Amino acid sequence: MYADVLVELKAKGIDQTFTYKIPDEFISKVKCGIRVLVPFGKQKLEGFVLQIHQNKPEFDCKDIISLIDEEVILNDELISLGKYMSKKTLCNLILCYQSMLPKALKAKNETHIKKQYKTYVKLNLSYEDAIRKIKNEKQKQIIETLKNTKIEKKELLKISASAVQTLCKNNILTEEKEEIYRKKWDKLSLEKPNPLTEEQNKVFKEIKNHLNTFYPFLLYGVTGSGKTEVYMHLIEEVKKEKKCALILVPEISLTPQLTHMFQKRFGEDIAILHSKLSDGERYDEWRRIARGEVSIVIGARSAVFAPLKNIGIIIIDEEHSSTYKQENNPKYHTIDIAIKRSKYHKCPLVLGSATPSIENYTRAKLDIFHLLEMKTRVNKNLPKVTLVDMKEEIKEGYSLFSRQLTQKIEEKLNKNEQVILLLNRRGYTTVVTCKNCGFTQKCPHCDIPLTYHKASNTMRCHYCGYGTFKINVCPECHFRNINEFGLGTQKLEEEVEKKFKARVLRMDADTTTLKDAYEKMIQSFKNHEYDILIGTQMIAKGLNFPLVTLVGVLNIDTSLQIPDFRSSERTYQLLSQVAGRAGRFSLHGEVIFQGFNIDHYSVKYASMHDYEGFYQEEIKIRKMLQYPPYTELILLKMISKDENILKEESQKIKKYLERKKQGKILGPTPSNLYKLNDRYHYQIMIKIKNKKDLYSSLIFLKDKYKDNKKFTLEIDVSPLKVS
Ligand code: ADP
Ligand code: ZN
Repeated sequence: MYADVLVELKAKGIDQTFTYKIPDEFISKVKCGIRVLVPFGKQKLEGFVLQIHQNKPEFDCKDIISLIDEEVILNDELISLGKYMSKKTLCNLILCYQSMLPKALKAKNETHIKKQYKTYVKLNLSYEDAIRKIKNEKQKQIIETLKNTKIEKKELLKISASAVQTLCKNNILTEEKEEIYRKKWDKLSLEKPNPLTEEQNKVFKEIKNHLNTFYPFLLYGVTGSGKTEVYMHLIEEVKKEKKCALILVPEISLTPQLTHMFQKRFGEDIAILHSKLSDGERYDEWRRIARGEVSIVIGARSAVFAPLKNIGIIIIDEEHSSTYKQENNPKYHTIDIAIKRSKYHKCPLVLGSATPSIENYTRAKLDIFHLLEMKTRVNKNLPKVTLVDMKEEIKEGYSLFSRQLTQKIEEKLNKNEQVILLLNRRGYTTVVTCKNCGFTQKCPHCDIPLTYHKASNTMRCHYCGYGTFKINVCPECHFRNINEFGLGTQKLEEEVEKKFKARVLRMDADTTTLKDAYEKMIQSFKNHEYDILIGTQMIAKGLNFPLVTLVGVLNIDTSLQIPDFRSSERTYQLLSQVAGRAGRFSLHGEVIFQGFNIDHYSVKYASMHDYEGFYQEEIKIRKMLQYPPYTELILLKMISKDENILKEESQKIKKYLERKKQGKILGPTPSNLYKLNDRYHYQIMIKIKNKKDLYSSLIFLKDKYKDNKKFTLEIDVSPLKVS
């Protein structure tokens, strides 16, 4: 018998299985989807068995050294899922499998994460025989304790370590190991489901009617419309049919409330996969799932590969979130994988969002996804949003806090209520903005902000390569101090403390690195240990505090300045998330957006909670400039330490693609991050009606450069971040 084994090799070009002989002693145990240790040249490597067969190879093949797993790691579905992903993302198969698995189960020799065990002790003889053999009181006590039961060794040692030792040595007692899981569960008392509102019920029934077929839904439900409750009702239905549910959320460690809600409803029938788990915990959760010990899995992106066997529904909450796209190889999109799995399991897929991605909302309009809507909040009220124009404020000498915001903050502090101040993600310092009016220099062809290239003192579009001189005087307001600006959360914290008499808490990537920091901070803010919470968009997700009556966004502009054609969409999403979160409890929740571009349609529609209005504006621009969904994008990133090689090869790639006459080729142009770790970056963007037309050319290019040590080509099919 022979096995085809896939190993990970350092050389990036080799991506194939190698055939090994299965020694007789392993024949009964070897299975497809387990890991084995094999000789490869002078090394010993771990690899996955992908096929077992009788075809004796023509050459002398070597023996498998040992089997690593008893239980299958890649079941048949996952094996074919990996092949699908490899094709779709143009990524090596081995990397696809590795990325599907927790660290403990990757085929890498350095894995040291092991199962954990508890040691029990029990009687090796009958109670009567044991009692006859004992020598002293301590031993008797131990035998009595073990009558009819087994006890953890740790406990028994407390009676007398030497007695236990003697009894074991004399074979009166015997030890037994039992596998345990690392994660400790909080015990939460179970809660009954809420009866659904009429709107929720309609959606619930529609999905329920399709429970045993592949059917993709887009659930557009405003924030607070109770999507989670609908999900939980659906999961109950799925459980009734003895099937499993897979729920994906963007960043589960930022949404502890959601996990709690599920735990309160479903108890311990849940596995949770998120980035803050230790490798050991993750390994254990994976095994609980693979063994069929849980029927619900909640997790972030990579949980889409959870080894559930009988899936009855897949739910992707906040489907628009960019975290669903993996940035490294394999550059897969979670929704593509989820569609594939839903088809395999013949179950519905529910994509939920209050701000659907433009592409998926378009698909829903075309009935590729079935559109479901929930337009009212369970508590019927959306907060009022006030827009403040900072151009006017600056004229009057107010820069960081507008007069309206200052006044509102003071008002709330006086009433002993809480305030959240959101500082939009720091802008690109390479984007040049007028400090006076917020003007940003844009590409006339691509409508994205130009980025500043210091070396040549020029402004460049990194989509199409358009270049122009940096301006020193603002063409809009003739202000002379046009420059990059960016304000950090730390600086803001100082300013707030100077200006207001308040207890201030800052939350951003720097202050929440520790394992439970995020949850602790949220809790202490909830307990009113602080008056003002300052943070980046990270906190937009956790805005669920009864005492918060004011949310201020200090600089709505920065996300508009990101040189990406999706920046309006991202701005709309962020702002409406903020606007929709405030006033979840109290009736008088207020929101202030301040900035320079308050007339921008994404800001205007977000303040009015009008997604449809935003969509109609945005889709016009997408059409005019032929961005997705009107085209598909493919981003080629070219990287080299040698600028000349980089330019030459990039040109060759462009010429090759142009000869193929497929799609519109933009670039090559320096990437936004041109020099990184001593390596230079160029990029080419391709706009094409149907990306499938280009696959053979892309495979050709990938093959051509796969062994090139001086030049790397990276391909991102349907990139989400185009900057
Ligand atoms: P979404 O995810 O759509 O933003 P949530 O699921 O968080 O909304 O629901 C908003 C709030 O309404 C939550 O506090 C939730 O407990 C409550 N809720 C949802 N559905 C119901 C219902 N049918 N009856 C009572 N309360 C509900
Ligand atoms: Zn351009």
